[in-house]
Amino acid sequence: MKPDWDIIIIGGGTAGLSAAQYAARANLRTLLVEEMATGGLTLVISDLENYPGFPEPIDGFELAQRFTKQAERFGVEILNDSVTAVKPEKGYFSVETGKKTLSTYAVILATGAQHRKLDIPGEQEFSGRGVSYCATCDGPLFKGKKMLVVGGGDAACDEAMFLSKLSDKIVMVHRRDRFRAQKALAERVLNNENITVRFNHEVREIKGDTQVRSAVLFDNAEKKTYEEEFDAVFVFIGSIPQTDLVPFADTNEVGYVITDQCMKSSVPGLYAVGDVRNTPFRQVVVGAGEGAVASHCAAMYIDELKGQAYR
Ligand code: NAP
Repeated sequence: MKPDWDIIIIGGGTAGLSAAQYAARANLRTLLVEEMATGGLTLVISDLENYPGFPEPIDGFELAQRFTKQAERFGVEILNDSVTAVKPEKGYFSVETGKKTLSTYAVILATGAQHRKLDIPGEQEFSGRGVSYCATCDGPLFKGKKMLVVGGGDAACDEAMFLSKLSDKIVMVHRRDRFRAQKALAERVLNNENITVRFNHEVREIKGDTQVRSAVLFDNAEKKTYEEEFDAVFVFIGSIPQTDLVPFADTNEVGYVITDQCMKSSVPGLYAVGDVRNTPFRQVVVGAGEGAVASHCAAMYIDELKGQAYR
């Protein structure tokens, strides 16, 4: 049986788009399935300053568009649909979407990760009404206002820096006594006079009426709880890998897909790239590189399968 596609890439962020481009360029019949706009998380980066080749910061939306155009130029077909199931069969996979069932020799999972939630009272209630997970998207709505940023990783620091251009009243709380973020980023935050950093602080509740008005904070060093007025709460406390489609693949203790250096998972023919993978460094450039490696290795795997099929 000849599958419908040589390779199906699930997820159209920059890792998936890079994989698609390399696969199509290697002459594989390549389908990329994405349920939203292509570009993934890169779409909402305002100033991407560390992507090689761009000495001036580039807008993430523009970079994502360039990735998409380049993939299409090499012949990638993009299907705007949700994948509902991936089933490993003998020598191929079936990939079910809302509209059809497709077959393919290999699958590259590039489904990324979703924002982790605080799971505290008020978070869901005020989501979209002052609680946000994207500073670039919602920050401008709170220009000049008092904003609370939660988290201590690269994302929290990056987004706090972005918000500090909109207001001089940014308060950042982190549950430990030091940042997890890269040193250079953390130092920039600590030296930013528009950002007040409070370590050893947790958010216990978000309160408001039609929108956020305050947050209940807990100082875990002093063991003190207090309430403070805020107009918005931005939450950046990491992410949850989107692996529901591949329950049969091995994952690490926090749920990211384990791969070898070829991006190959524990399941023959299934590769994982970008934020869904057990990677030590989540960056656009890393995802793009992983996409290239995965497609290169998948091409060899597919050649072998085709060879076997012809014997
Ligand atoms: P992250 O590195 O996993 O950091 C998550 C932060 O949130 C940690 O400081 C963690 O605290 C805190 N946290 C987790 N659960 C929490 C909870 N329930 N309540 C309060 N705080 C909580 O996640 P990230 O910052 O989203 O970054 C994800 C990946 O993307 C990283 O690999 C990062 O390097 C990359 N990234 C890079 C850049 C950049 O290079 N400019 C920008 C954004 C993201 P603890 O420290 O106490 O664990």
